[in-house]
Amino acid sequence: MTSTETLVPFAETMERYEPVIGLETHVELGTRTKMFCGCTTTFGAEPNSQVCPVCLGLPGSLPVVNRMAIEYTIRIGLALNCAIAEWCRFARKNYFYPDMPKNFQISQYDEPLCTDGYLDVDVNGKTVRVGIERVHLEEDTGKSLHIGGATGRIHGAEYSLVDYNRAGIPLVEIVTKPIAGTGADAPAVARTYVTDLRDLLRSLHVSDVRMEEGSLRCDVNVSLAPRGSSRWGKRTETKNVNSLRSVQRAVEFEIERQAAVLDAGGRVIQETRHFYEETATTTAGRSKEEAQDYRYFPEPDLVPVAPSSEWVKEIGDRLIALLQIKPQFEFVPVKIGPSGYRFENNFGSPSTRFKHFQAQWGLPQAEMDAIRNADAFEVVKDTVATGTSPAAAAKWWLGEIARLANDRGTSLTSLSQIITPTRVGRIDKLVSSGRLNDRLARDVIHAVADGEGDPDEIVKARGLAVVSDEGALTAAVDEAIAANPDVAARIRDGRVAAAGVLVGAVMKATSGQADAARVRALILQRLS
Ligand SMILES: [Zn+2]
Repeated sequence: MTSTETLVPFAETMERYEPVIGLETHVELGTRTKMFCGCTTTFGAEPNSQVCPVCLGLPGSLPVVNRMAIEYTIRIGLALNCAIAEWCRFARKNYFYPDMPKNFQISQYDEPLCTDGYLDVDVNGKTVRVGIERVHLEEDTGKSLHIGGATGRIHGAEYSLVDYNRAGIPLVEIVTKPIAGTGADAPAVARTYVTDLRDLLRSLHVSDVRMEEGSLRCDVNVSLAPRGSSRWGKRTETKNVNSLRSVQRAVEFEIERQAAVLDAGGRVIQETRHFYEETATTTAGRSKEEAQDYRYFPEPDLVPVAPSSEWVKEIGDRLIALLQIKPQFEFVPVKIGPSGYRFENNFGSPSTRFKHFQAQWGLPQAEMDAIRNADAFEVVKDTVATGTSPAAAAKWWLGEIARLANDRGTSLTSLSQIITPTRVGRIDKLVSSGRLNDRLARDVIHAVADGEGDPDEIVKARGLAVVSDEGALTAAVDEAIAANPDVAARIRDGRVAAAGVLVGAVMKATSGQADAARVRALILQRLS
């Protein structure tokens, strides 16, 4: 462990140093099958149950590229305003690791699929353009489980187990250009960038982007340059930072730590570092001073990837539909150099899209923030697209459905696979037309979540529906009056608050399927 104990207070670091940050984000794509074989990719499956000779690297097996993974990567590249390569190859990255059964990883090296884009992020009222160096495609490794130690790390463990289910899942790496000149905002820029990137990826429907399940993982690079110097310092790379808050804290900590090292006349060592969630500190990992030689060479078992401009345009058109952006974003293919296409467009950053939809929906900032913080933007947007009012869509997703997700320990995104925006739109219609009241709607939502089908089927099968037949309601009201003569007498005397007792009796008699407001009106009418 190096001298991590001494820190310089953050504000003071800014007097002497200018931070330069960089972010490398790994995203597991949500394809149904793996990158180079037909194995399924379900999270949390029995260890080593989703494997085959290809992803186990058995001799003689041959990989075949998953076309959907290429399409998803192009989607990401277009949305990040990148140039899409007309022709590129996979490469072998050679190294040994127990969770990598082939002893090499198929990745992309000097020929990435997407290059040179950007993402605009808003931080403290300023727009910062984060340059995107490259977006490339590779395969994920397996996962080691270290048993018997206190920390779950290999150090101190008695033995280790390997699960290859994750080996071969398509992984996209998104690498920013160095981000300089943001000063004290650097930690917030890092956090906002990852937040916006996550929201963007979710809206592209390419990944479930769950940091806690590792489908979005972030490496944070930080270096310091003395103020006024044009020479950047040595950088450190903090690996696998697994929450948005941690991204910000990892940048802060590294700035404070590196400033202390430099203040003491020391030098920052170029190395990878581990981040600890509990303490928000980092410790030294592997030194990168002697860079590992991965002996990259073009993967001989795969043909090059050569997306035609027609296909890229098709993908772009689908993107316009997915993001629901206005047709003024025209696609004009511009050929760049000999090897790629860039589309003259601006898909708009996530923050621009939020502002656009906020204006369209007429919701207050606090409500939009709540929607975004609950990761509900996409589902609310898709519910509004079915004709539901924005306020009602927000009410369902942030209210009953969020509570249900919380109770079941799942996310809105997962629940929306079954409680789809279309179904929520239908439930809202049933309520606004008076066929369901809020309590019955809640029952329907729970039944949908339990897999009982569409709202209309559930209403029919369970005989749910507000009793709106006046005759039946009047009969139930008369029955309640007859059964409670004392209460009825009090209401006749003008003590209308007592009506609640009779409303309760009618609701009970109709199994909650009456419109309470209508029942109350009927009672007062009968006893006036
Ligand atoms: Zn396989």
